[in-house]
Amino acid sequence: MAPACSSRTNSLHVAVIGAGAAGLAATRELRRESHSVVVFERDTQVGGLWVYTPQTEPDPLSLDPNRTVVHSSVYESLRTNLPRECMGYRDFPFVPRNNESRDPRRYPSHREVLAYLRDFAREFKLEEMVRFETEVVCVERDGRKWKIRSRSSDGIFRDEIFDSVVVCNGHYTEPRVAHVPGIDSWPGKQVHSHNYRVPDPFKDQVVVVIGNFASGSDISRDITGVAKEVHIASRSNPSETYKKLPGSNNLWLHSMIESARKDGSIIFQNGKVVQADTIVHCTGYKYHFPFLNTNGYITVEDNCVGPLYKHVFPPALAPRLSFIGLPWMTLQFFMFELQSKWVAAVLSGRVTLPSEDKMMEDVTALYAERDANKLPKRYTHKLGECQVDYLNWIAEQVGAPPVEQWRAEEVNGGYLRLATQSDTFRDKWDDDHLVLEAYEDFLRQKLISVLPDE
Ligand code: FAD
Repeated sequence: MAPACSSRTNSLHVAVIGAGAAGLAATRELRRESHSVVVFERDTQVGGLWVYTPQTEPDPLSLDPNRTVVHSSVYESLRTNLPRECMGYRDFPFVPRNNESRDPRRYPSHREVLAYLRDFAREFKLEEMVRFETEVVCVERDGRKWKIRSRSSDGIFRDEIFDSVVVCNGHYTEPRVAHVPGIDSWPGKQVHSHNYRVPDPFKDQVVVVIGNFASGSDISRDITGVAKEVHIASRSNPSETYKKLPGSNNLWLHSMIESARKDGSIIFQNGKVVQADTIVHCTGYKYHFPFLNTNGYITVEDNCVGPLYKHVFPPALAPRLSFIGLPWMTLQFFMFELQSKWVAAVLSGRVTLPSEDKMMEDVTALYAERDANKLPKRYTHKLGECQVDYLNWIAEQVGAPPVEQWRAEEVNGGYLRLATQSDTFRDKWDDDHLVLEAYEDFLRQKLISVLPDE
């Protein structure tokens, strides 16, 4: 259903937390809607997760709450897991640039993504709104407004009042670690993928990688080049699974780990036993908002952030508090752009939200559906198969066109290739017709001036 619209527009003073891909999209859309925006970014530059650093945290599992946090989880060899045509923002496509320093591949390296985000920030003059090296340490209500306490790099705290806060702090920095029975007496090393950068430390080792989704699959293949053996343990494999994976001669896939023993062995549910040196946990991340004080209204339980209407607005605090970028298994940048348009338009009063009760009913229905499908809470923000419906719903709210057919097909085909040919999906594909359709679409909309081979 299309939302109620109004001709009345408010211009608000809005704080955006984070200048990654989500914060940049939010900033652009908020300014387009005539809001005044201050972006708080604790790093020295835009790009968030895509700002690669060889630095890792001193605690390799990142369990110490008082550790010095390193934001990025990007490893040196990382290439995108989506084709670039569908990955970019809709009206600023992620196309190869004619510049020797750039990576023209369809699945480019992380450096190319950072360069793209910098281009985006430059094109829309976003940096002028960013306060770099300024960390938000507390966000709390002040009447109908919000008070933000920030700390700049010189240690000075500052309190400011904003009409609204848009949270874009990312959710790939706080590791989730798998529980392995017997791990406390196991003598080997453990590291989370958040602190993985290069394979060298694993030279000649026997390594067990837990998790076989994007990072697990990449990192295990990265390590096979130097390690003696790499064994992937995956929850999604049946308990008898045991097979050598194509593309290397020292990589095996197993079911999950049954236990770890103090003699250094790891026992898998398939009965296989390996004497391992290191476990790499590629087991995902937790949503984490250490600065946010809503007096207990918003909670994070088993990685479900709630209550949130359509993953964006907490009903009782809407629209003055919102979150961009929580859903996963979706076209991230594209979703950030649509969610941001929605938030900006709701704040200006051009688009209205349902009543608080109606929004809560929607949240309750989402939870009921999740529970009926026997999905754990941590899958609440997973979109996957329903992503196009979700994106189209938001597009309708803001009067944007629905997801293009080529984009939807590219992303579905991309996921399938990732799952079925994880060693080759970035360099071999059979959907060139979709690439052509994408570029023709960009050309038609005058987002590019020539097709790539012209
Ligand atoms: P981030 O990029 O993490 O940005 C958050 C920003 O907030 C950071 O700059 C941080 O410094 C800042 N910040 C945090 N807390 C504070 C605070 N308190 N005060 C001030 N500033 C703060 N997506 C894709 O589309 N394609 C891919 O190929 C892809 N590959 C990925 C590979 C890996 C290994 C991972 C972990 C994720 C990948 N993703 C990919 C998802 C990726 O996270 C998103 O694409 C996107 O970059 C996230 O943007 P964000 O702005 O939400 O978060």
